[in-house]
Amino acid sequence: MLELHSHTTCSDGSLTPTELVNFAAEQGVKALAITDHDTMAGWVEATEAARPFDLEIVPGLELSTVYNGRSLHILGFYPDPDRLAAPLQERVEGRKRRARKMADKLAELGYPIELLDMSSAMAPGRPHIATALRQAGHVSSHREAFDRFLKDDGPAYVPYEKFTAQEGIELLLSCGAVPVWAHPWIFRGGTVETVLPELIEAGLMGIEVYHPTHSVSQTRKLEEYCQAHNLLVTGGSDYHGPKKEKHPDFKDLNALALPLDLLTPIKLAASSLKEIYA
Ligand code: AMP
Ligand code: ZN
Ligand code: FE
Ligand code: FE
Repeated sequence: MLELHSHTTCSDGSLTPTELVNFAAEQGVKALAITDHDTMAGWVEATEAARPFDLEIVPGLELSTVYNGRSLHILGFYPDPDRLAAPLQERVEGRKRRARKMADKLAELGYPIELLDMSSAMAPGRPHIATALRQAGHVSSHREAFDRFLKDDGPAYVPYEKFTAQEGIELLLSCGAVPVWAHPWIFRGGTVETVLPELIEAGLMGIEVYHPTHSVSQTRKLEEYCQAHNLLVTGGSDYHGPKKEKHPDFKDLNALALPLDLLTPIKLAASSLKEIYA
């Protein structure tokens, strides 16, 4: 019903926005957030593709920040694209520089790769490097590429260029976007208990409670945090495409079957932000 986390070929997903929307409609999704890494590039095509269906596109993105030297992802819903465009362009340029650094590290390790063409607006990420490693014959699967080289403490890992979680939250707020901590239990740079208060202090407004990698007890814990701190509850399958081999950790679209009503308070929060930051 509701899917608030998905990726397209504009970042590291394997379906184009149009293919993703067609599939979502087929799966019975009624509201779909396009949340590519550091880019809004998929929205226009997705919105156009959704026209024939009873399917609402929620404009969003997944911002990459650094906290304690590790990747911390923050979802932003309903940003003002005019305000966010320039700062995001800088983030995408940083991703391109980072991809080159990871390729350099791999070459030093004795595993040279052919980097993809990075002239377009696409936001390159580790899955693209994993594909290049496979194409070069250095690994036989994406899983192996991450396990041996690319995981957060792997030998070819390079963090995103300096951009703290607090800065990310402030940027989203100033662009009228509702900031939500994505998949908190995947974070490797500290415990959820200690990091959450700092993010709330910075202006965090919600938690991605429902995510395929969260266990039942982890999900319950996040529900409790949301109640205790009066935070918005979101969720999504973090869909990257149908290629299981490429995205083994992610479930199918609509697998969580989340209720549509979760979206209403998010919309309300976004409108009040627009008034505050007008
Ligand atoms: P990046 O934004 O470049 O740090 O890449 C993040 C993306 O890489 C995630 O959205 C996943 O698609 C994928 N990813 C991250 N960690 C892993 C892992 N340990 N195994 C497989 N895929 C991963
Ligand atoms: Zn991704
Ligand atoms: Fe993420
Ligand atoms: Fe994601």
